[in-house]
Amino acid sequence: MNNHVVYFDNHATTPMDPRVLDAMLPYFSGKFGNAASRNHAYGWDAEKAVEDSRKKIASLIGANPKEIIFTSGATESNNLAIKGVAEMYAERGNHIITAATEHKAVLDTCKKLEKHGFRITYMPVLANGLVDLDLLRSSITDKTILITIMYANNEIGVIQPIAEIGKIAKERGVLFHTDGVQAVGKIPVNVMADNIDIMSITGHKIYGPKGAGALFVRRKGPRVQLTAQMDGGGHERGMRSGTLNVPGIVGLGEACAICQKEMAEESKRMAHMRDKLRAKLESELDETFINGTMESRLPNNLNMSFAYVEGESLLMGINDIAVSSGSACTSATLEPSYVLKALGVGDDLAHTSIRFGLGRFNTEEEVDYVADRVIQVVKKLRDLSPLYEMAKEGIDLSTVQWAAEAH
Ligand SMILES: *Cc1c(COP(=O)(O)O)cnc(C)c1O
Repeated sequence: MNNHVVYFDNHATTPMDPRVLDAMLPYFSGKFGNAASRNHAYGWDAEKAVEDSRKKIASLIGANPKEIIFTSGATESNNLAIKGVAEMYAERGNHIITAATEHKAVLDTCKKLEKHGFRITYMPVLANGLVDLDLLRSSITDKTILITIMYANNEIGVIQPIAEIGKIAKERGVLFHTDGVQAVGKIPVNVMADNIDIMSITGHKIYGPKGAGALFVRRKGPRVQLTAQMDGGGHERGMRSGTLNVPGIVGLGEACAICQKEMAEESKRMAHMRDKLRAKLESELDETFINGTMESRLPNNLNMSFAYVEGESLLMGINDIAVSSGSACTSATLEPSYVLKALGVGDDLAHTSIRFGLGRFNTEEEVDYVADRVIQVVKKLRDLSPLYEMAKEGIDLSTVQWAAEAH
């Protein structure tokens, strides 16, 4: 069944690259040692594998291997970064700045801190999805200890002006954390050039394993300290106790090494397929809307709304394609995506939005197939839509008196 579903949801997770799996396999059984075992070869082998992985990750992001802390994924990394700074620097200030379009792992961490006396500024974003740098500058106070703004957004793919944010943070002596999950491995990221102090990454968005992530924590200029969120054996420079997940760490490292080698070529291929998908959809369908700027965007993301169709019917119509939607109709709430809302996208268009997330293993044939299926289903649904017909006849729908207002 799964074989007939085209996977275009690579922002949610990616299939593991077979080369990553090959690198991991020996560390489940044969080389099963504990990287903290200092007295025998099993431990040394595991430790060497972990240190090799640290180097590969550091190399991809322009860091020093000593600045890489292993975690269980980006949710943990975001928690450790934000709560770790909040606790460590609480005497310096209690104010944190973030943006309305961040991942829940950042927003909910900030909400938790609000209950403990921290003041959080959730900056609105511009209609194109980007943060307003003037607003950022004016939001900083002498109590601000952290700015946390994601590198690239997981729904709309927009890439924030990270180097500018890093510069502002540095000038004001404020630490800068970025959730780098969607950007690292897809576009060039350099923590030194961008003045990033702390950055979260995860394996399963870059063709590596689930449950393996890392946090870059700057050691020099400034030396960042984090209060550990887990107490125990003092692993990972005391910031994250717990026996290291050696196979997962090996996989994360190998995933980074492959990205570093293939990123330039891969991002061109992604952008070509994404642009082809967009062009096909726009050539056959009117009343489509792109969410988020195309100027500063991940090469593998397209987020598009289709007016005059019903979101749920659209998704049901293309159930042989795995995509995400800005509609939360299927969940308990009827609230559409908070990210699209933050851009000012109306509820109707948010409900009919589709996030196409392309990945390493997608093909041109799949792009053609997906485009054709979406065009077919949208056309069919619009044929049944009296609203679309009225709009095409030139009736201004905002002036129509409806018999019963739907809520
Ligand atoms: C997937 C994702 C996360 C969560 O990562 P996990 O490793 O699944 O915990 C955090 N931030 C962004 C932007 C993501 O896309």
